Amino acid sequence: MAAVAFHKKDSTPAPSATPMVTLEGVNKWYGQFHVLRDVNLTVKRGERFVICGPSGSGKSTMIRCINRLEEHQKGRITVDGTPLTEDVRNIEAVRREVGMVFQQFNLFPHLTVLQNCTLAPIWVRKMPKKEAEEMAMTYLKRVRIPEQANKFPGQLSGGQQQRVAIARALCMRPKVMLFDEPTSALDPEMVKEVLDVMVELAREGMTMMCVTHEMGFARQVADSVIFMDRGEIVEQAPPAEFFKNPKSERTRAFLGQVL
Ligand code: ADP
Ligand code: MG
Repeated sequence: MAAVAFHKKDSTPAPSATPMVTLEGVNKWYGQFHVLRDVNLTVKRGERFVICGPSGSGKSTMIRCINRLEEHQKGRITVDGTPLTEDVRNIEAVRREVGMVFQQFNLFPHLTVLQNCTLAPIWVRKMPKKEAEEMAMTYLKRVRIPEQANKFPGQLSGGQQQRVAIARALCMRPKVMLFDEPTSALDPEMVKEVLDVMVELAREGMTMMCVTHEMGFARQVADSVIFMDRGEIVEQAPPAEFFKNPKSERTRAFLGQVL
């Protein structure tokens, strides 16, 4: 395969000692409901975190707080050294660095695959159209669907749509990619084609936070596995330790269900 990297290194990287994502004492409420409870974590450059836990435990909320799709009320979140505050400039700075892939793809249905990929580079990054299209084709090749470039999302399978969503996120040259159950809405035979792309991305050194129950993926690429329950990080460990010797009873019960 052509040696085109998924992720071009930024020409002016922040000092490598700066973590890519930090959450310190993060708390969030939906009304009276305490959805995130004192969440602390540090993701360094190039690290891959997998987050698992029962439905309703706050995984999506935590991931969505990292690019301010949700607002936390207490504690501190930083992305590549930039703190997420009310300051719109900070929020925009963070969003430029964070790529997000959702369970339901969230492609624009009225735009072609290529237009989905070039929209933000052209309008947000002010990239010339031709350059944006060339870049988009490079990423569509990497997710193995260049031949679908002129189709509309509705004409593609779920697995193909999710690969478009990954290519679209990569077109913004993010420094960190957030995945929220990217394979949960897919038919079983399409899960692998999406995971293969994610594994490749991980191998190329992308910093990734992935909410997933694909424990094979966690074993293969994660540096750290986090188990969340009722808004708390109950356990965090490298996969070998996490699966072999889970410390908490809640983690054991959960793993008993998903493994
Ligand atoms: P997970 O992704 O782990 O399944 P979520 O982060 O989606 O969990 O949700 C955590 C909890 O917060 C759930 O109980 C959910 O019902 C609740 N919740 C999520 N979004 C909202 C919202 N916008 N308003 C009120 N409650 C919400
Ligand atoms: Mg969720």
